[in-house]
Amino acid sequence: MLHDVMETVLTNAVPPVHPLADGTPDQVNAVYDALEYLDKLKDKLTFAGNPVITQLVEKKVYLDKIGIADVYGTADVILLAGNEIHVVDWKFGFYPVYAEGNLQLKAYGLGAALCFHDGEGLYGDIEKVVVHIVQPRLDLYTVAEYDRLDLPEIAEEIKSITTAANAEDPKFNPGEDQCKWCKYKTFCTARFDATDSLAREAFSAYTEGRPVLMDDKADLLTRCGFLKKYLADIEGELTEFILTGGEVSGVKVVEGRKSRGWKHEENARWALRNDFGHKEDELYEKKFLTAPKAEKLNKTYKKDPAFQELIEVKRGKPTLVPASDRRADYQVKQNAADAFSGHLE
Ligand code: SF4
Repeated sequence: MLHDVMETVLTNAVPPVHPLADGTPDQVNAVYDALEYLDKLKDKLTFAGNPVITQLVEKKVYLDKIGIADVYGTADVILLAGNEIHVVDWKFGFYPVYAEGNLQLKAYGLGAALCFHDGEGLYGDIEKVVVHIVQPRLDLYTVAEYDRLDLPEIAEEIKSITTAANAEDPKFNPGEDQCKWCKYKTFCTARFDATDSLAREAFSAYTEGRPVLMDDKADLLTRCGFLKKYLADIEGELTEFILTGGEVSGVKVVEGRKSRGWKHEENARWALRNDFGHKEDELYEKKFLTAPKAEKLNKTYKKDPAFQELIEVKRGKPTLVPASDRRADYQVKQNAADAFSGHLE
């Protein structure tokens, strides 16, 4: 839905007010933040003496010029600025995706370079392709830059992948990212086999009859994302199957926790005041806005030192993640007694 709003706003050069009339504050902010990112990018290019000459929105790009037929993608925004191409991809979900090494974005960048070239050779005058992933809801904006010389290598990478995928006996490559959106994910035997062998490896320490070490447990945890996702997908498929009349031995679908709400809020309010004799004040609870919500009252607050001075940033809970995670290690605070314990003995 927010992709549609972005398309309407950018294509028709209209403010987001109307297309966002039914949007939640979170959606409104996400769209404004995404637009702000695009404006800043264009300003940056202008200041660098490379103003945007062409902007394309929801542009289909193809790779047939490099011999990859029947493959296309729709880039959210493509900017041509001098000899540079910028591909901007909106991601409004809550799953972090990074531009660095992202194959989808590499393919968009390549497709954009192929459709824009205006000179000799396959890539003409294009000197640089920059891809941006904009995830306003996560405050995550990542960029990857490719030189003209990288483009043939990217083309080869995509060619080898598409050739392998189109082979008579294609090699499957199950993984959390690629299987997540695949429509075959619950009955793909390659994914099942990968999950099966992963589970066997992950629990091997427990079946070898030796003491299970911390490293074994960490190994199990780092692998369990793939297992958990597989189980969640199976759970969803079984639930759907039973709800549509199927029967499966050993499981059934029941109602989860019930929730209670007003049938008609306006009727309930009237009845509580007039039939039950409550005062208006008793029917409402006033809650002070949280800091992030107050920040959304005015876009300038994020950068206003006086406003930021009111906010205390509390530390997040220690969270165990794979060592490859990009965040810095959690710093354990020492209290004074701990810090000096060695000197006090
Ligand atoms: S579920 Fe199977 S077909 Fe789909 S992406 Fe995963 S490995 Fe490929």
